[in-house]
Amino acid sequence: MVKINENYLKLKGNYLFAEIARRVEKFKNSKPEANIIKLGIGDVTRPLADATVGAMHKAVDEMAKAESFRGYGPEQGYDFLRDKIVEFEYKSKGLNISADEIFISDGSKCDTGNIQEIFGTDNRVAVTDPVYPVYIDTNVMAGRTGVNKDGRYENIIYLSCNAENNFVPELPSERADMIYFCYPNNPTGMTLSREQLKKWVDYAIEEKSVILYDAAYEAYIREDGIPHSIYEIEGARKVAIEFRSFSKNAAFTGTRCAYTVIPKDVMAYTIEGEAHPLNNLWNRRHSTKFNGVAYVIQRAAEAVFSDQGQKQINEIIDYYMTNAKIIRQGLENIGIKVFGGVNAPYIWLKTPNGLDSWEFFDKLLGEAHLVGTPGVGFGPSGQGYFRLTAFGNRENTEEAVERFRTKLNLE
Ligand SMILES: *Cc1c(COP(=O)(O)O)cnc(C)c1O
Repeated sequence: MVKINENYLKLKGNYLFAEIARRVEKFKNSKPEANIIKLGIGDVTRPLADATVGAMHKAVDEMAKAESFRGYGPEQGYDFLRDKIVEFEYKSKGLNISADEIFISDGSKCDTGNIQEIFGTDNRVAVTDPVYPVYIDTNVMAGRTGVNKDGRYENIIYLSCNAENNFVPELPSERADMIYFCYPNNPTGMTLSREQLKKWVDYAIEEKSVILYDAAYEAYIREDGIPHSIYEIEGARKVAIEFRSFSKNAAFTGTRCAYTVIPKDVMAYTIEGEAHPLNNLWNRRHSTKFNGVAYVIQRAAEAVFSDQGQKQINEIIDYYMTNAKIIRQGLENIGIKVFGGVNAPYIWLKTPNGLDSWEFFDKLLGEAHLVGTPGVGFGPSGQGYFRLTAFGNRENTEEAVERFRTKLNLE
């Protein structure tokens, strides 16, 4: 009798987006004429920049000729891309990262999900609450948790982030080995200052823990004093793995390219206390289970770092961030408490009148024909919050804010 991995049975169904779709469908049936605007999209909507498309076309033509055809490439990525990343994202900013510490992949979802494989199953995992579900679910699958009780898995350390602590996670009272962070944060749109992040880096050094730092929204940072990379923090080279993606900065959500940075100084230990560099383990894992990102796609990613590429992607990010500002200001003007949206494309609002997340969802849909994402769907500490995104088009964003003002009854 073949056995299943029973850890999969502990997983809670991903009801959030299915439940949203169900409620929207039901509403549409009752009011077919309503023009629904979705501010719940977690995907970019502006197309690829010309610079990246041009590079892709050129690479396709190379693949069509015997002289320039490429078969399997290096699993870790082509040097042309790894070198560009090092130069552009790290060296030029005074950060000491080398090309053999960069692993090109087909996405940060895969990387943040797969990274736990190189860690022992008896490590304690800490995540912020609310959270991007990938970090938790992949550890459930691997058997690092108990069952789910009242929205939380046993044996995971949940770091509550809410208005009371200004969304800054406090150091845990129990030992945390693997600490997952995402800054700028999805879903809250909030960030950590250098000082706040330093506290965690110091903790990880002291406890011999590792911080798994998802910086997918780094390009959206607008304020000074907010770290773009965890390696800006002294000592982070010893304890941090950083995940970067071309998805949100360069519209690669459907094109697929990302990278993981593992400095050779980051160690994990055997039971006897013998230190092993995680760079070696991940290299082994990556070259055994992954066969590289398409050449054409890596050329497109390389073009992100050209002058033209940078100019074009920054225009797109500015477009989204102007949407974010329109939403933020519009909601503040009608007295709704909002967070995020300054260094991230997400706006996290406190639901008015003490409504819970789903009650507010129904009210917003019913009165203003707007769809967002209930905060509680990202974890228990998201209860009473609601996520809006800046990825829509300008016209819809403005119309949505207008409906908040004129249609939503906040008496
Ligand atoms: C969108 C997103 C990513 C990027 O994932 P890809 O697989 O690279 O598209 C990573 N982390 C978070 C939190 C995200 O929201």
